[in-house]
Amino acid sequence: MSTQVRTCPKCSQLMWLKTDEYEVLDDETVRAKCPHCGNTARFKLVTVGANALGPKMGH
Ligand SMILES: [Zn+2]
Repeated sequence: MSTQVRTCPKCSQLMWLKTDEYEVLDDETVRAKCPHCGNTARFKLVTVGANALGPKMGH
């Protein structure tokens, strides 16, 4: 796992989540608490497939 960057669905601020700051629920879902508003949100991890490393730039 690596640092995850997600937008909080409640307060719309970016959450930078280090490995020890989110909880892995299963292979593709993590749960994290927003440091801004305290909302607990679930996020999908993308760990396989074409988008695993983010959008390709240029190429
Ligand atoms: Zn928030």
